[in-house]
Amino acid sequence: MGQIDYNSYKQVAITKSKIIHIMKHVETLIKVLRDKGYKVTPQRRVIIEHLVGDKSHPTVEEIYQRVRSVMPEVSRTTIYNTVRELTALGELTEMANLSESGTRYDTDTAPHHHLVCIRCHTLLDIYHDFGGITLLPEETAGYQVVKSQITFYGICPRCQSATQPAQV
Ligand SMILES: [Zn+2]
Ligand SMILES: [Zn+2]
Repeated sequence: MGQIDYNSYKQVAITKSKIIHIMKHVETLIKVLRDKGYKVTPQRRVIIEHLVGDKSHPTVEEIYQRVRSVMPEVSRTTIYNTVRELTALGELTEMANLSESGTRYDTDTAPHHHLVCIRCHTLLDIYHDFGGITLLPEETAGYQVVKSQITFYGICPRCQSATQPAQV
């Protein structure tokens, strides 16, 4: 009988509760799609399972590569269509081009901002309330403003350590 490692127990407990939360959200999304008359095939379920809780703001290609590793028969078209449907339902947010790799999708539809690494394009969600960011009517040229999002640019810790000049 070994000693109980409370640290690893805590890890497992966190992972388990996180998984339960993720699965609930998967079922919610599937219900949303079904209610709107979309067919939820096993392939779509796998795609949704990959999307839920994905904080990387992936491109369609990245989603495709990840899903394909567990479901080799999945097509780019299926990924594209599922992403498009979820975006139309407001369950995914299409992001303005923040990198050359193409349109990214945000799985968190709650209002938040981003911090982007200018080297590797890794994105970090920023949940900071900046208060009322408003524009004057003469600045909006007749546009109806629906939301605002701030993007910060920086260099992530990994890229910082990769570019540290050698100590002389
Ligand atoms: Zn970086
Ligand atoms: Zn985000």
